[in-house]
Amino acid sequence: MWRYFTFFALGVIAVIALVCYGILGSAVTSQAKRRVRSVGSDMLGTINNPDLTAADVEQKITDYALSDSVDVFIFDMDGNLEMPYIALAEEKIAPVYEAVNKNLGEWAEGKTAEYNSRSGNRTTFNFAACVTLDGTQYKLLVRYPISHIAELVKKMEIYLLIVGLGAFVIAFLISYTLANKLSGPLREISGTAQKLAAGNYDVQFNSAQYAEIARLSDTLNYMKDEIEKSEDFRKELLANVSHDLKTPLTMIKAYASMIKEISGNDPEKRDKHLDVIIDEADRLTGLVNDILSASKITAGLEQVNKKVFNLTELLYGVINKFSYLQETQGYSIMVDVEAELYTLADEEHVYQVIYNLISNAVNYTGEDKTIYVSLKYNAEEQRINFAVRDTGKGIDEDELAHIWDRYYRSKDSHLRPVKGTGLGLNIVKVILQKHGFNFGVRTKQGEGSTFYVDFPRA
Ligand code: ADP
Repeated sequence: MWRYFTFFALGVIAVIALVCYGILGSAVTSQAKRRVRSVGSDMLGTINNPDLTAADVEQKITDYALSDSVDVFIFDMDGNLEMPYIALAEEKIAPVYEAVNKNLGEWAEGKTAEYNSRSGNRTTFNFAACVTLDGTQYKLLVRYPISHIAELVKKMEIYLLIVGLGAFVIAFLISYTLANKLSGPLREISGTAQKLAAGNYDVQFNSAQYAEIARLSDTLNYMKDEIEKSEDFRKELLANVSHDLKTPLTMIKAYASMIKEISGNDPEKRDKHLDVIIDEADRLTGLVNDILSASKITAGLEQVNKKVFNLTELLYGVINKFSYLQETQGYSIMVDVEAELYTLADEEHVYQVIYNLISNAVNYTGEDKTIYVSLKYNAEEQRINFAVRDTGKGIDEDELAHIWDRYYRSKDSHLRPVKGTGLGLNIVKVILQKHGFNFGVRTKQGEGSTFYVDFPRA
């Protein structure tokens, strides 16, 4: 990065140098020429002005000599210096006049000429003209040395070189610091990413003061969290599966061996053993489903997709699932449900909640095998109250705190029509907490329990 910066600075300096070298010299020279021409025309104006005397012309020449270092000479036709009245050696004047004569040619009123001349290492730009002063013919010369311009340009070149080198060093230093500042956080991010790749999830991508890098860090942190979640999910699933699947599998294997070795020819015993195998297989299926959804929900892999749906219809759908229990085992579900109640929630999750709560009520209800389901809109609370009540023996005070925990199952192993895994209420809790809905249980020893959820109305 700093190399690019430095090359860029070098390029800019090179362009500036080229422009200076190329344009500066010719710009200054043409400026000098313009100056000579303007002095020339000013002199002509002064000479041709009938109101001004020779003394005025002389004064003007002196002014120019003093203020602009522009030389103005007026020669007579013999090559003698008429003005200014200064003593100049003959050998110095002669070649100057010679050049004027050569470039101007025969005297003619209004004739002018421009030329460069050299003497030694001095170059001058000249403007010559034929003039008449007080009725006498003269030759006017205006000249300005341009060789000092070349010297000036040379000096400027040296300055330019020094300034250019200085600018280059400064540009290098600035770009080096800047590049380090920019790439430092990037290097840090890539280091962190390497640690993450090596399986260390305790890392954090630090934000820099640059918005883009800060955004990149945020995205990477988000990615890390997601990876961590699925990693947690993977670990949990592995632990749950190995722990929970072992028991039913051992049972299935044991009963299969029993059929093979003992009960094979005894239809009654064999059927009993086969029933156990079928039961355990069902349990396995339920278990796998529960473990999957519990792990997914807890790991945050399952998104809450809220939408408006008919809660009444959904509730009837769940109740229908239990109709086989009503028909085959004499259970009755008493329903007190308001029609057309709509809520805003994740439909699938709510289905799971209601299913789990009703199946628990079925499992734990009393001798009368009756459960009560109600769904009503409470205008005061502006909530749809869902409740499912059983007539079981209720939940102990000390058990109450644990029923929502993962894998918690009461110790009493009474016969249950729906096989439990100890995950049901935990799934209910996680889902409802994610939605932010109010829920809970009211229970009384010997009278039964009521599980309730308050849904918002949509
Ligand atoms: P599972 O029912 O599969 O054991 P749950 O997570 O659904 O697992 O329930 C956890 C525990 O909470 C149960 O083992 C039981 O002790 C208690 N429980 C749940 N629902 C009821 C209920 N309606 N009546 C009495 N106890 C209940």
